[in-house]
Amino acid sequence: MLHDYFGRPLNSLRIQVNASCNFKCFFCHMEGTDENAVTLTPEEIERVIEVAARNGVNRIKFTGGEPLMRKDLEDIIARTRRHIDGDISLTTNAYFLKERVKGLRDSGLNRINISMHSIREDKFVEITKVKALDVVEEGIDAALDAGLHPVKVNFVVLKGVNEDQVEEMIDFTARKGAMLQLIEYETDRKGENSENYKKYHYDLRIIEEKLAKRAKSVEYNSLHNRKRIHLQSLTGHWGTVEFVRPQRNADFCNHCTRLRVTSKGEFQTCLNRGDQLFAFRGKDDAGVLDMFREAVYARVPYWREADEGSY
Ligand code: SAM
Repeated sequence: MLHDYFGRPLNSLRIQVNASCNFKCFFCHMEGTDENAVTLTPEEIERVIEVAARNGVNRIKFTGGEPLMRKDLEDIIARTRRHIDGDISLTTNAYFLKERVKGLRDSGLNRINISMHSIREDKFVEITKVKALDVVEEGIDAALDAGLHPVKVNFVVLKGVNEDQVEEMIDFTARKGAMLQLIEYETDRKGENSENYKKYHYDLRIIEEKLAKRAKSVEYNSLHNRKRIHLQSLTGHWGTVEFVRPQRNADFCNHCTRLRVTSKGEFQTCLNRGDQLFAFRGKDDAGVLDMFREAVYARVPYWREADEGSY
């Protein structure tokens, strides 16, 4: 396994299989890329995974755009399973999930993240521009029925939009046996000056500290050292909440063990580093490995202790 110059092991890839989406969330970072129609073929994705797996990667997350807009995602996952015996997961808006979840599982997917940023229809539409809350809820049920575990529900906390829904979301996920993932609205240094960020960014530390007081137990996800707590919802159901709190958080970056792969066929060192791209498309195994190594050794934690404090 490779380690970067900061001693961080590289054991995980976050692979963007496409860069277009049927939802239009106003805060979306598009995984640090632009919307475009370029996609790697299943064979190209398999090659990059095979090379990475031979060099210590054992955890794959597929993302987009919206990954389920690809008809060949099952094929991509089956090819991934040939090389990875660890976690293969997917983040999706679940719009196309219900009909495909069993096929995805049978191809080798073992867990899933489903984005649901509101439990109320009006806010759901305000955020995504699509009237589909019921479809997403059906997708969550279908993923649970298919036995994917855990099913994580991604909820980006947005000031003045959905911050008041956190308790309802804890109860909703706890009742179903899903895990709630509360995510801070994140951006890079420049993005912190944008109107959207200034208006909607909510300091997740406030919620994390408040909920931690109710925790029966606490553990940490090795990726990003994310805190995960077990607690009772306000109606008495036991549930789990994980906090994804990257903004100006040096600890988060110090525990980052992943490299990104863009839909265009580049390794990207960090969500916030669109300037650090290592293109591998068209290269043979040795060429892909060269780019992989270069990308790993170029990795630098984006947020450092000096960035912390109030924001
Ligand atoms: N379309 C898929 C989905 O909805 O899950 C995959 C792509 S989406 C970019 C992956 C995750 O990133 C989603 O949970 C989304 O809410 C989250 N996300 C997007 N922009 C974000 C931002 N600025 N800050 C924090 N999370 C964000």
